[in-house]
Amino acid sequence: MGYSLLSDINGNTLRTKDMHLTPSANKQLEMGKDKIKQILREDFEVMPETGPKKLSVFDFDGTTMDTLYPEIAKPIYKEKTGQDWPFQGWWGRKESLDMDIFDFQPKPDVKRDYQAERANSDTMVVSLTGRRPKLSNEVEAILHANGYRFDRYMYNYGSDTLSNKLEQIGKMLQEFPSIKHVELWDDRLSHFVTFKQWGNDLVKSGRLDNFKLNEVPNDQWTK
Ligand SMILES: [Mg+2]
Repeated sequence: MGYSLLSDINGNTLRTKDMHLTPSANKQLEMGKDKIKQILREDFEVMPETGPKKLSVFDFDGTTMDTLYPEIAKPIYKEKTGQDWPFQGWWGRKESLDMDIFDFQPKPDVKRDYQAERANSDTMVVSLTGRRPKLSNEVEAILHANGYRFDRYMYNYGSDTLSNKLEQIGKMLQEFPSIKHVELWDDRLSHFVTFKQWGNDLVKSGRLDNFKLNEVPNDQWTK
């Protein structure tokens, strides 16, 4: 055979010997194009309904996990390693997230809330921390070891934690116009006035239907 014939599902020849389309194949081709256009149009129209409806944002230190803080962690470091904490800072050091030295525990109430959020298929559940991107391996190792899996892990690539958090949540709202509910879990009380103001403004403007902020107790901020 010097050439192959192309057939449709009914066995009709679509191409002649010299590879031109037969009139019936041409008609099918045009019908197919119309169908594709229709499908694309329909997909475009339903797309806003198919995205996540809710964004649930969990802070890391003192919220999903009790990661300790320098005042109580440094004595543990000394006890385990036999030496004083040898660095200037704390939160920027990967050693502050060393699971071989510190026995980090998830915060049970937050873990329960996380599980409830995870069970909603139209909710996007993200981890958002003031820790820097260079610590992503350590942060995610701790979260995964404690039964957390997030749709996204976000780190502070900017200046202060509060501004960066608002910037990143804002970006998520741009990326997912379908999100109409935002709920946050955080332990840092000094950020709450600004968070509330920000969320309430979005509800007032009609961008969100609902904004909720959950205060997670942490004696680092209240002692
Ligand atoms: Mg925190």
